[in-house]
Amino acid sequence: MSYTSPVAEFRFLLDHVLAYAKLAQTETFAEADAETTDAILTELGRLCDDVMAPVNRAGDLTPAVLENGVVRTSPGFKDAYQAIAEGGWLGISADPEFGGMGLPQVLNTAMNEMMSGACLALQLCPLLSQGQIEALEHHASDELKALYLPKLTSGAWTGTMNLTEPQAGSDVGALTTKATENGDGSYAVTGQKIFITWGDHDVAENVCHLVLARLPDGAPGTRGISLFMVPKFLPDEGGNPGERNDLRVVSLEHKLGIHGSPTCVMSFEGAKGWLVGKENGGMAAMFTMMNNARLGVGAQGIGVAEAAYQHALAYAQERVQGKTPLGKGAIIDHADVRRMLATMKAEIFAVRAIALACGLSMDMAKAGNDPHWKARAALLTPIAKAHGTDIGCEVSSMGVQIHGGMGFIEETGAAQFFRDARITPIYEGTNGIQAMDLVGRKMMDGGEAAFRLLQEVEDCAENARTQLAELANPVWDAAETLREATEWLVAQDASTRNAGAVPYLRAFARVLGAHYHLKAAIADPQGARARLAKVFIDRILPEHSSLLVQARAGAEQLYALSPEDLESA
Ligand SMILES: Cc1cc2nc3c(=O)[nH]c(=O)nc-3n(C[C@H](O)[C@H](O)[C@H](O)COP(=O)(O)OP(=O)(O)OC[C@H]3O[C@@H](n4cnc5c(N)ncnc54)[C@H](O)[C@@H]3O)c2cc1C
Repeated sequence: MSYTSPVAEFRFLLDHVLAYAKLAQTETFAEADAETTDAILTELGRLCDDVMAPVNRAGDLTPAVLENGVVRTSPGFKDAYQAIAEGGWLGISADPEFGGMGLPQVLNTAMNEMMSGACLALQLCPLLSQGQIEALEHHASDELKALYLPKLTSGAWTGTMNLTEPQAGSDVGALTTKATENGDGSYAVTGQKIFITWGDHDVAENVCHLVLARLPDGAPGTRGISLFMVPKFLPDEGGNPGERNDLRVVSLEHKLGIHGSPTCVMSFEGAKGWLVGKENGGMAAMFTMMNNARLGVGAQGIGVAEAAYQHALAYAQERVQGKTPLGKGAIIDHADVRRMLATMKAEIFAVRAIALACGLSMDMAKAGNDPHWKARAALLTPIAKAHGTDIGCEVSSMGVQIHGGMGFIEETGAAQFFRDARITPIYEGTNGIQAMDLVGRKMMDGGEAAFRLLQEVEDCAENARTQLAELANPVWDAAETLREATEWLVAQDASTRNAGAVPYLRAFARVLGAHYHLKAAIADPQGARARLAKVFIDRILPEHSSLLVQARAGAEQLYALSPEDLESA
């Protein structure tokens, strides 16, 4: 399917909205200067548009299949994956010591978005490898790092993440997969994992599974979980794929979307594995991978939204229907279609800025070891994941709507974006769990990180009041309302917070989105950026106040409605 990577949009955001240039002034990211950044984004854009996007439809129409215990991927996927690997893109943010480029996470986020817009089903493969690389960099022994990191970074081997079991989904602590010591430094891992993305394939020579399992003396719940590296082929003395390990794909799932991504039921049958991190320290190690993947999944939602928008815009420019207020013309001139397109574009801009700001905060934290940036990144991660993926679904749904009846017909391709996007609010921690993380763990500082960010939003609006009053005043007011709601929230018990978590997260995203639109308008006060900001601030931002009413509503009326009431009402 046709897709054009929004390279110029990334450049605008990095240069005019996010103060990206600060990164190149740090020792850690000195190489991320304007020239390198341009070259990276342009090259990635070419790969996504010319190599990945053309296989997107084939992945949907010809899903991966399990043949004689081996997964065969969709037509064209192997070549496209090889192009990703040969470009060195698996290691864009990986440690140069093991072959990575060491570039900032914010560029990685842009890459993940572009790749997802081009072909989400294929992008999942490099996304999981990236997360595994980061987990190993932080938690693996030197021996494991030396063996696995160069292979994963080059793309010769790929990574997976094995948490979910039939009885252990959101409740990871309920897992029953076991690990016992073999006596030679390795462990035998036994159990069944479900929904394992890219759990097997034919695009690379080895599949490295990071598996959560419990040692015999592991405590119940998440405290007693350890993490193991369990490769499909055991590395031989030369570090090449050797003997086959005792694990297999039981079946592949038939899914609503991302058909080209093999989702595997995996059986580990005394498979040989090696501990990553400390015994019973599995959740901490896996969290490194999950945090990376959460921002990556947020970027997935944004990427699919962008692709759906481009598709819908092209259709709206061509489809002629009825008389529009501007005379006889294409449907883009009907007010309601214009509303949908404007909403899509404004939503994508806002959430893209949030995701990039999250990546940038991770980079600033890494470069300066600054706790404030670390707290900022932690605060923004659940917002980027949940809101990015919600917008992916909403925008791709609007994309179907703009196509009218043709949107419901598979051949136009609009439906694929809608179906593909639907998984993103579910995996990598459902969006409900993300929102609970925001109002729970991320507010354990009494809301300090949130208040610090809101202060920046208010200061920016304050400074823009004279030049752009119509835009700046509502942003300042909204930030103040959110501040008050946050003060209220941090004083509540867990149940009250959780009942309002999802609307609170969305309200936060509304305020941040308006803030970034205002910054864009400041950079382009007479131009299209300011006009788009007006759409967001006039039509979308006001939602924050009703969301905050819901956020403050508490849990009482929800639990007053009994399960029986839900049946009969
Ligand atoms: C296509 C696909 C790919 C996947 N890839 C992987 C993978 O590579 N590796 C892997 O390990 N897993 C993977 N998963 C699993 C995925 O992460 C889980 O499906 C997800 O975490 C939700 O778990 P669950 O399906 O058991 O739903 P449940 O946990 O049963 O949740 C059902 C509903 O209850 C809500 N809920 C559950 N607990 C709570 C709570 N405490 N508070 C409030 N609400 C709650 C949820 O938000 C959700 O709405 C994949 C799933 C799919 C469908």
